[in-house]
Amino acid sequence: MNGETMSEPSAETDESVRDVVIVGSGVAGLSAAVYAARADLEPLVLEGPEPGGQLTLTTDVENYLGFPEGVGGMELIQRGKAQAQAFGAEFAHATVEDATLDDRPFTLGLASGERLRTRALIVATGASARWVGADGEDELMGYGLSTCATCDGAFHRGDDVLVIGGGDSAMEEALFLTKFAESVTVVHRREELRASDIMADRAREHEDISFRWNTELLEICGSQEDGVTGATLLSHPEGYPKERYEESASQGDAEGRAGGPRDGEDVTKETVDVGGIFYGVGHVPNTDFLADTPVPLTESGHLDTLTGMTTETAVEGVFGAGDVMDPDYRQAITSAGTGSMAALDAEEWLDTVDAAAERTEAPLSAD
Ligand code: NAP
Repeated sequence: MNGETMSEPSAETDESVRDVVIVGSGVAGLSAAVYAARADLEPLVLEGPEPGGQLTLTTDVENYLGFPEGVGGMELIQRGKAQAQAFGAEFAHATVEDATLDDRPFTLGLASGERLRTRALIVATGASARWVGADGEDELMGYGLSTCATCDGAFHRGDDVLVIGGGDSAMEEALFLTKFAESVTVVHRREELRASDIMADRAREHEDISFRWNTELLEICGSQEDGVTGATLLSHPEGYPKERYEESASQGDAEGRAGGPRDGEDVTKETVDVGGIFYGVGHVPNTDFLADTPVPLTESGHLDTLTGMTTETAVEGVFGAGDVMDPDYRQAITSAGTGSMAALDAEEWLDTVDAAAERTEAPLSAD
């Protein structure tokens, strides 16, 4: 969140403790909001730095049940938000920076400096585009380097562009870019695609898309004034050339001189002219704000939920939904599913806590 503030609710008094706060407004957060609102929990959805999540960056969603002709990602999100609002969910432009989850009610620290308290917390913060780690990417992201073809593709009419990655995202980016670019080259670090067969076939069969197998991006050339002008690529017949290049560079040569592989060695280095580069190399879960909390994270940084069919975490009252807790399925429809589960789990947990409190508070019968 950049300088946003929440008009309401401000939350330092007991009255302002929410029953449920949902962090994230992608399909998981929206689905949780619909369910929580229908259960009269008056959920507050903190929309986060990427309101609407990944679907807003997607073109057509063809595999969401109930839309035989497909549906635009943005449209699906807008309709989901309207549905949640119709049932009474509140939305705020706010990003959670830190959380205190040792005591209940939980406290969330917002980027605006405000603090918000809630009895139950649904974490639906999704995942954000991963970067490759090529030289020049920090300077050129947004200047010809992009993680979103649907957002930036139109700037590349007539350009030769590269798409990095071998999964569905990369295929989708490549296919979309053929509308504008002169040529699209998919650069993949090995020679087998990770993408689903249907997406892989569409990309392979497209006449404007070609593939550079066993190839990785080492460096992006250009400047913020001129944009991306070229790319230095490494290739190796057995894949993962960058790893080999870096190993070789760190070893130096037989005489002890440092440096990259020398001519004639098996990693090939080449600089090509391109006008744009698009990353499609997957996503990393947005769990930074949970780093100092007792909520366990997996090795990959995903929210660790309890085993079995549940969205509960090891911290009572904290639930996870969508890509932030799902390293495997990562589909819009599964995110919607876990969103609804999280709201149902939160509702049941709140009922249990309330029932327990009532039992404790009930006067003892005098006999
Ligand atoms: P993904 O399936 O994890 O694929 C990431 C790709 O990027 C892999 O090919 C990986 O290479 C490559 N990669 C990762 N880090 C890299 C690096 N540092 N340098 C170079 N290459 C790197 O991610 P995704 O494509 O975003 O898909 C995620 C999920 O969303 C999947 O379940 C997918 O089905 C779904 N999705 C579906 C659609 C659709 O149906 N329209 C569209 C987008 C996404 P390796 O293969 O060597 O690991």
